[in-house]
Amino acid sequence: MNSDWTQCAITPAVSHDGFASLGVAVYRASTIPFENAHAYATRRERGSEGYSYGLYGTPTTRTLERKITELEQGRRTLLTPSGQAAITAAMLCLLQTGDQVLIPDTVYPPVRDFADQDLARLGIEAAYYDPTDIDALARRMGGRARLVWVESPGSTTMEVQDLPAIAALAHARGALVGCDNTWATPLNFKPLAHGADIVVEGLTKYFCGHSDVIMGSITVRDAALADRLRNFLGRQGTGVSADDCALVLRGLETMALRMSYNARVAASLIEAIRRQPEVARVLYPALPETPGHAVWRRDFQGASGVFSVVFTPDAAPHVAAALDALRIFVIGASWGGTRSLAAPMPVRAHRTVRGWEGDDLVLRLSVGIESETDLAEDIDRFFTALRREMARGQAR
Ligand SMILES: *Cc1c(COP(=O)(O)O)cnc(C)c1O
Repeated sequence: MNSDWTQCAITPAVSHDGFASLGVAVYRASTIPFENAHAYATRRERGSEGYSYGLYGTPTTRTLERKITELEQGRRTLLTPSGQAAITAAMLCLLQTGDQVLIPDTVYPPVRDFADQDLARLGIEAAYYDPTDIDALARRMGGRARLVWVESPGSTTMEVQDLPAIAALAHARGALVGCDNTWATPLNFKPLAHGADIVVEGLTKYFCGHSDVIMGSITVRDAALADRLRNFLGRQGTGVSADDCALVLRGLETMALRMSYNARVAASLIEAIRRQPEVARVLYPALPETPGHAVWRRDFQGASGVFSVVFTPDAAPHVAAALDALRIFVIGASWGGTRSLAAPMPVRAHRTVRGWEGDDLVLRLSVGIESETDLAEDIDRFFTALRREMARGQAR
């Protein structure tokens, strides 16, 4: 055996003098080498933002955390392996047996599932509330309420919540407020500036923007709360890969451009969709008929490219078959990428406080970055197919 073997295993240090890049370097690490035994023995003193083990972050993850912290106008950000993991980590870290958590009836359905299965098993009560009724929320809040969850607008049905009023109510009772801001992103709404203590983003959606990464973030205003969350995530063994962070950092560079285009094209498609006789309602915070529209006007900077279509009772049973006519829209879950998506969503089973009055199937559309004309033609193709299916249904 000669020293070539050792040379192969050791990476030389090279000069960085004169080098700069507009891109973000991908620093992968499990092991972080220490300069001496003393530095290793005292590594905990580097604090929750220092580098001591790859799980707790590298300069790449810190760069993404910092960018999100600034956009959210928060104190610190923690990254999680999915948006769902950000929500469950925040709840598990802050709640204990005997506590109550208030959750909007319109919450992202996997969160309801988590609360009913896992929080219930831990003796934590999930109480669901009508997202548009502050008085009802006040009545639902018990003495053991520790956390009020907000998702604005709500999943699929798009009700906008009055976060400042909810935060005032929760804080008066000693409860914290967490807000899922995935639809708006910090470009269109800043929950921490409107009273939330915690804001969660599904980075999978608009931040990443290319439908190829799953990641989430938790941003807080309070450094002690950030430490609690960082330590909790470390104990859980939860971290994210530097490569995935680099992809989200790249997507984030174009997020404002993508979202402004998504919103503009969504508004023009909605104008055409609303005129179709087969459509009962379009749900979109920027439309006056969507619950909470006045709050959206007051608190949000704009809208995103995701909206939902409720069909008339005679058209709704034929929507699924008519989706086969789409050539540009892709049928699939998640959203916020470059491609436009259509997802038929059942709503009724996910509402326990206020029954859903429209047809059970609501079509959620996410506008991507394809040409506006091509998308409009695809929507026309869908409605032509829908009318054909309805006529065929009548003939039968
Ligand atoms: C998609 C989504 C999430 C979860 O994000 P993942 O990264 O897919 O787990 C959370 N909240 C809302 C509102 C979402 O739409």
